[in-house]
Amino acid sequence: MSFACPVCAAVSHNPNDEREGYCGRCHDWTARETLSMWTIYRRPRDMPGVEWCIRRWRVLPGVQEPQPDVLVFPAETLAAARALIPLHLTRLPRQPDDDPAVVETWL
Ligand SMILES: [Zn+2]
Repeated sequence: MSFACPVCAAVSHNPNDEREGYCGRCHDWTARETLSMWTIYRRPRDMPGVEWCIRRWRVLPGVQEPQPDVLVFPAETLAAARALIPLHLTRLPRQPDDDPAVVETWL
């Protein structure tokens, strides 16, 4: 089994890549249309010194948990973090069981 990325043509023989349509060279799920969610964090524990940041999560067909993107974008303020979110998304306030650093999610 192998997976050829439709964007950069890199070939992966990793069965997880094949199943999820993930390209390690693009660092992206290039094979499938996926639902993206953007979460704004304040002082995330895994990023000391960062006040605000946003991270994209992908909801993939056949994968139970949303998968975090490798890329995280820091921001100086909440307004600056919101300015990094793509337009035309809907804001969801944090949920009771979210990580304490989660401020809000856009999808
Ligand atoms: Zn690729």
